Amino acid sequence: MIRTRYAPSPTGSMHIGNLRTALFEYLVAKSQGGTFIMRLEDTDTARYVPGAEQIIYDTLKTAGLKYDEGPGVGGDYGPYVQSRRKTDYLVYAEELVKRGGAYYCFCDKERLAKLHETSADGAAKYDRFCLSFSKEEVAANLAAGKKYVIRQLIPEGQTTFTDLVYGDITVDNSEMEDQILIKSDLLPTYNFANVVDDHLMKITHVVRGSEYLSSTPKYNLLYEALGWEIPQYIHLPLIVNENGEKLAKRKGDMSFEQLVKIGFLPEAIINFIALLGWSPQDNREILSLQELTECFNIKGLSKSPSKFDIKKLLWMNGEYFKKMPDGEFFEMAKSHIANAVKRKGIDAKKLAEMVKTRIELLSDIPGLLDFIDELPNYDISLFTHKKMKTDSQIAGDALNAVMDNIRKFTSWDNTSLYETLVEIAQDIGYKNSQVLWPVRTALSGKPTSPCGASELMELLGREETFARIINAMNLLGVNSINYVPSYKRVNDAASKDSVNVATGGANE
Ligand code: GLU
Repeated sequence: MIRTRYAPSPTGSMHIGNLRTALFEYLVAKSQGGTFIMRLEDTDTARYVPGAEQIIYDTLKTAGLKYDEGPGVGGDYGPYVQSRRKTDYLVYAEELVKRGGAYYCFCDKERLAKLHETSADGAAKYDRFCLSFSKEEVAANLAAGKKYVIRQLIPEGQTTFTDLVYGDITVDNSEMEDQILIKSDLLPTYNFANVVDDHLMKITHVVRGSEYLSSTPKYNLLYEALGWEIPQYIHLPLIVNENGEKLAKRKGDMSFEQLVKIGFLPEAIINFIALLGWSPQDNREILSLQELTECFNIKGLSKSPSKFDIKKLLWMNGEYFKKMPDGEFFEMAKSHIANAVKRKGIDAKKLAEMVKTRIELLSDIPGLLDFIDELPNYDISLFTHKKMKTDSQIAGDALNAVMDNIRKFTSWDNTSLYETLVEIAQDIGYKNSQVLWPVRTALSGKPTSPCGASELMELLGREETFARIINAMNLLGVNSINYVPSYKRVNDAASKDSVNVATGGANE
């Protein structure tokens, strides 16, 4: 039975890399019907950042990564918290000393500082000064109450392990330091607590970022020295930004909370993160957590760095809005709509339906609806559209024809309005688009709008519709008494060209 754990240290906000580790810990277990747990590694008080643990809990909850066991009541499990566990890590360290895998070190801060100072790069490894003490000397120091730490004794040679993604990795032991396992306050360092707890919690698979590849042998030497079974390792590839650099807060790379605050949907973020270094090996890109759980396979993990492409995340977010039920979307969007549109009598639900398929973020909404309260100033060049086969002259004619036939607009609903506009186009021998496009432009004053002419008419109402059309006719100079629309000259040989342009096979 597979058992995985997400083991964060509360050292700051939850970054994309951290969340990806949590997600893959979850998927490795859940895809095989295994158990996923969460263990907070908070024994290193020097690195503790207040509030960080709450961010971790909230993020996992928002992301839907539920753990299967832990302290807590009923099915609502709490995470394991190392500092609150009753594990006596010291006992395990003492056992390790007995087995020759660790030793007591009585060096004081001053000696260690001097050691660093006198080294060429200021980062000397511990010189094993205390390793030369005899058993009796150690016992005497301990009996005298001398402060100590316990250090791992790294043997000579090389250590090799197999990672399920990266294959065999060999590290020369000389690259490793005799790291501290138990600090002078007798609490474990997180490296040691991590190994002891993984053993006690029967973790079968350790999933984490590739930055841990080089320190894994250190952990494995501890397992071996204690006679414990080494877990399987799955190291995840680096995540890089657009410039190919490792993601980092100081470079402006965002945390999960920041992305959610901007308006990214947790489901979209999870989907996006799942594809950072993994693929389902078919062409699917939109996968819910449930679908990911069903199709996850470690064979889909890659070694090469994966790029955090914000454009892809934006696209994905838009796809999640499209898939969302209308009612749910409305609840999310309504405050944005209310802020963007103050005009009376506008159906906010209709607006929500219109923008739902056109946004990537909720903050795109005001930009799509800004023309409703106030028609923007626009240039008549907007009426020229090659594909719609319109230009300012055709637009003038079309709008003129609409006003000429104002009596035809008896019902004010989208379907009837559309039919009437099409009928007017036919009457004057124009393509549908040659009437619809000018009306749409006159009503929105923009090159794009979240809906077509008849929907805009329905939305804005009769009075505002005709006021905006008259405004457009004024801009186009069509309101003068002398204006002669070209459609009246259909049979006039002199104006045949303009008629041909007007009827020239445009699609709406
Ligand atoms: N506490 C370590 C961290 O936050 C966990 C390392 C691991 O997953 O083994 O980076």
